[in-house]
Amino acid sequence: MHQRSRSPKLLGAAIAAVLGLGLGVPPAAAAGAAPAADPDPVPGLVAGTDTAAPQLVTGLAEPAAGGTPADAARAHLAAHRDRYRVDPAQLVETGTERAADGRRTVRFTQQYGGVPVFGAAYLVHLAGEGGGQRVESIGGKYFTGLTAPTVSSVPDEVLRRLALGAIEDPAGREGATAEDHGPVVLPGGTGRLARHFTVRGTDPAVWAATAREVFVDATTGRLALAYDVRAPYRAAAAAAPGGAVAAAAATAAVEPATGTAPDTLGRSVPVNVGRLFDGSYQLTDLTRPAVITTYDAAGREVLDFNGGLPADARPAASAGPDFPASTGTSGATDAHLNAAAVDDFYRTRLGRAGIDGDNGPITSVVNVTSFGEPLQNAYWDGQKMIYGGGTGTYHPFSAARDVAGHEMTHGVVKHTAQLVYLGQSGALDEAVADYFGNAVEVTSRGIPMTDPRAALLGEDLCRAGTPEACAVRRLDDGRTTVADYTGAPAGVDNGGVHLNSTIFSGALWDIRRALDPLTADRLVYRALAEYLTPLDDFVDARGAVLAAGRALGLDRAQLRTVAGAFDAHGIKAGWQRRIGVDSRSLLRELSTESIAPDAAAGRWVAATTEKGGRGSLGVYAGSVTGSAEPVRLSPDDGRSHGWPATDGTTAAWAAMGQGANGQWGMEVFARPLDGGPTRSVHSAANQYLGDVRISGADVAFLANDFGTGRTWPQLSRGGAPVTAVPLPDGHAAADLTLKDGLLAWTESWQVGERTVSAPTVYSIAEGRTLAQYPAPDTTRVSGTRLAGGRLLWVETPTDQSRGSSIRSGAPDGSAAVDVLPGSTTAPRRITALTATDRAVTFGYAGGRVSDTMKNTDLPKLWQLPLTGGTPERVSCNRGGQYAPVADRGTRVLWLDATAGRTDLVVRERAAGTC
Ligand SMILES: [Zn+2]
Repeated sequence: MHQRSRSPKLLGAAIAAVLGLGLGVPPAAAAGAAPAADPDPVPGLVAGTDTAAPQLVTGLAEPAAGGTPADAARAHLAAHRDRYRVDPAQLVETGTERAADGRRTVRFTQQYGGVPVFGAAYLVHLAGEGGGQRVESIGGKYFTGLTAPTVSSVPDEVLRRLALGAIEDPAGREGATAEDHGPVVLPGGTGRLARHFTVRGTDPAVWAATAREVFVDATTGRLALAYDVRAPYRAAAAAAPGGAVAAAAATAAVEPATGTAPDTLGRSVPVNVGRLFDGSYQLTDLTRPAVITTYDAAGREVLDFNGGLPADARPAASAGPDFPASTGTSGATDAHLNAAAVDDFYRTRLGRAGIDGDNGPITSVVNVTSFGEPLQNAYWDGQKMIYGGGTGTYHPFSAARDVAGHEMTHGVVKHTAQLVYLGQSGALDEAVADYFGNAVEVTSRGIPMTDPRAALLGEDLCRAGTPEACAVRRLDDGRTTVADYTGAPAGVDNGGVHLNSTIFSGALWDIRRALDPLTADRLVYRALAEYLTPLDDFVDARGAVLAAGRALGLDRAQLRTVAGAFDAHGIKAGWQRRIGVDSRSLLRELSTESIAPDAAAGRWVAATTEKGGRGSLGVYAGSVTGSAEPVRLSPDDGRSHGWPATDGTTAAWAAMGQGANGQWGMEVFARPLDGGPTRSVHSAANQYLGDVRISGADVAFLANDFGTGRTWPQLSRGGAPVTAVPLPDGHAAADLTLKDGLLAWTESWQVGERTVSAPTVYSIAEGRTLAQYPAPDTTRVSGTRLAGGRLLWVETPTDQSRGSSIRSGAPDGSAAVDVLPGSTTAPRRITALTATDRAVTFGYAGGRVSDTMKNTDLPKLWQLPLTGGTPERVSCNRGGQYAPVADRGTRVLWLDATAGRTDLVVRERAAGTC
């Protein structure tokens, strides 16, 4: 496994030879001699990753066919298939952008077997006119290795139900909707057929509302990809998604007029408004090519704006042309004026016809609440701007022009590069929004770039305190990839989209300071509109900005300034390799951090797809100490095989997908680690099977019935058919654990309004529950484990008055003791627990998701003796550490996100103090 189809470097050299182009690295430097004095700041050719099509080709001046730019671009790609490896039959033209200097960018997407390829976009840049057209550069992502099926093998209704499962809190699934966008091929390797849904619901535990883009593997039913839809200006938003905007109704029977309105500070300012035929007025600006309308939600729940505007929503209104005080205090006036200022910036400075580039309506909603409290955020919901109302701490969120510019720029991104809002491409979306948000503010208000406040975002929103303390981000924070990249997994801030944005926006801001601002704005806009594609990472985006600079006619010194700014922020090829780690990788680039590995007796099992997302999910096994390559244990039968467990001799796992009988379902398997036949333990058509465990001849797992929602343990002894371990009516099991003839779980049930939970241990030989340790009903139990002949669990007070404690009890139910008492001074929220007969290892998430979250706030692993003691850090790796599994002694394996990817790693003993 894990061999790349081709080495990108060799591939680059091969294509460069075909094209007769120089590579970005001069041959002298590659050979170890002194580098050339002035290397070309614009790469001539960048090879694609996981595709034979190049990511970027610049410096061309090849005559193109006549006809439309799209015809010429298509003919050029077809005539040079050996160079680009692009099949013209898979290209769908989605638009041609014409720049002020007459250059055209033709944008193609890719369809494989008639199914859109997620994130694929290939761009051809043309200059000259008519018969004199020529191709200057080409770039983007087109995937050449796709062989995935294009017809779903899982029924649509099953896919829909599995998509709803992306809302993790079952309570939030009630009333949730899954909007079906149809099939899509997820790229990477051979590709995967998925079905794309937008899932909207509520999640009371975390967000007021959730809106997630969810991709379900249409061959196996496994969740393939999921991320939040919303693009707020800060992390930790509580907000809702949107849908179609009913702006047409707002402008019906309205004529342009002028009036006055108070702003948030109570100053009367002139506003462009609309006069209705009944003689009243509303905040609709009809003087511009794009109609701007501003709604006052008047404290209404943000959920009501989920999926569009409520039927009875009306723009902020007034009986006469002079608007009342509430128009100012709600933030409506500021939203209205800031929308116009942002539209002016894009229109007059950059030649853009509004947010959507086609003078579509520009709609803002102010003064929304979340669970009765003013929403303390602002976001672009995919269609419109949403702003929270003011509080004692904050002005209304529309009051900050940089925040308005930031949110509207998310709209521009949606209509140009369509950056995927996840990981590095999502951080690029945030970075471009940061850059233009601040550029709009300083330009329209005449603030010089040398003003220390120029680089602050959202600095005007606080009613008290300094701008520096109020700002949510600053573009001059000097952060770099190698020193500062926050290793957040997909579940935290969409993979760190806000946490990592200033690494890139800081480089863009440095460029704006070093070049003149107008040139920099044109450069960044051109990169956004004509060079960036949805799946680009930081290094791809560096190439895009430099290619845009070359097209804009920047001279060599200017291009070197641009390249130098990226260098200063560590945005250059290979930066991930320069982040130090103190662990040893056993398996690199796992495709998910949400499936835990297992280990015992120096052997491990883990689930991943092959590198680059190739193929379906499979179970792999390896040795902690051995040098042998990991082997794939699960059959390659098109199903997703995951949720693995091992006792050091045999592995067990669950598979999801279409079984041998042609029906979709789940099946539990077991197979010796050293090979041999794969044995089916159990299969079920209408149950979700998880928490698979194995100990000798015993295999256990949890079954969750789709119909009743009940969850209970199931057990197979010595290859016999499974039997259910009965629980009392209304009781549910979680955190199953199995060791040496004992089975244990966290059992929970309702007593009136309260949920009671208790670690429970069961003797397989005796067929009865040995002990249950009911926790106080102000405490939630989790992480139940068996180790060293003891039962271990975590207790977390529901009121968070103190931190989680780790407790242990004997299987006979005698008195429980604290292994780690709950601290009141350093409250811990323990998220994972694993143990051997010597050591207990736990994961501790320090911080909530917030704007200022750093690597130090992401979960880290700690270890202490089973008998109690002072916890020590397992590893000083700076990023997120997930799914720890104790092997033996003090050895721990876990999934580590430090280097901007997820690796299975190991350490033999705790690192101590970091
Ligand atoms: Zn944002």
